Amino acid sequence: MQFHDSMISLVGNTPLVKLHHVTAGIQATVLAKVEYFNPGGSVKDRIALRMIEAAEESGELLPGGTIVEPTSGNTGVGLAIVAQQKGYKCVFVCPDKVSTDKINVLRAYGAEVVVCPTAVDPDHPDSYYNVSDRLVRDTPNAWKPDQYSNPNNPLSHYHSTGPELWEQTDHKITHFVAGVGTGGTISGTGRYLKEVSGGRVKIVGADPEGSVYSGGSGRPYLVEGVGEDFWPTAYDASVTDEIVAVSDKDSFRMTRRLAKEEGLLVGGSCGMAVVGALEVAAGLGPDDVVVVLLPDSGRGYLSKIFNDEWMNDYGFLEQDGDEPRVADVL
Ligand code: PMP
Repeated sequence: MQFHDSMISLVGNTPLVKLHHVTAGIQATVLAKVEYFNPGGSVKDRIALRMIEAAEESGELLPGGTIVEPTSGNTGVGLAIVAQQKGYKCVFVCPDKVSTDKINVLRAYGAEVVVCPTAVDPDHPDSYYNVSDRLVRDTPNAWKPDQYSNPNNPLSHYHSTGPELWEQTDHKITHFVAGVGTGGTISGTGRYLKEVSGGRVKIVGADPEGSVYSGGSGRPYLVEGVGEDFWPTAYDASVTDEIVAVSDKDSFRMTRRLAKEEGLLVGGSCGMAVVGALEVAAGLGPDDVVVVLLPDSGRGYLSKIFNDEWMNDYGFLEQDGDEPRVADVL
């Protein structure tokens, strides 16, 4: 019989898919690492598994304990799946800009969700960082993974994403592009690829305009899961060779193109990362292999990025030379 013992053993080993259409005019090969094939639908399953198993080993997470984490959704899903399989409870704290679709998914997996305002400082008592700290203090047997400072976040990528890309590309990868949120993906994957290639592989971060990684002050932007208003310790700035800032508009338009032209229904941070990857790839030759990591699926954003009305409210669909939409013609 062929079966997996549980959903946990399906984490990682996601496929690489070549981009054919959004790459028009580009000579380099551009490959997407499609992380929605993970059981929880995102790259975050990787860090959830490693952070929980490391905390079990260190004794920080005890049998029957409660996992408390501020998360914009994807880390929560990964933690919820691993936690339920291992008998832990979960309480998640989310900023209010996270789509209700994502919050309902967390609740479906059996987690409790507390929603906090986005428009407050990180040190405000209602900020999602502070609310989660309070919950940890007030909940018996609670453990906070803290993906922003947990070394097992980047380490999970050092031990899984990095080696997968090196093998999948037959050691031919020349550039790795990823969005930066906690920084775990780019720091862990990037460090592995630099080490194994003797520094040959270039590591490029994509960041929403306004976020600190690309020199901003933390000004609000709409792309979810990436960019920060502070510097997390999970991010190792020495690994990145370059950071590309991408606007919300460009991120979301590319996200829609990926669904329409490449059959990839993915999230807004994926469109952002692809814009960054194409910017890098435009200056490269036919022997270059650019891998761009796509963190999650577009299913959680149907009422936003894939909703014309929402896109129009922000002016994101307006651009010279756009095809008239059926709704405008009628
Ligand atoms: N995209 C999405 C949708 C995410 O949830 C995250 C994680 N915050 C990222 C990108 C960025 O990944 P990382 O935290 O590893 O930098």
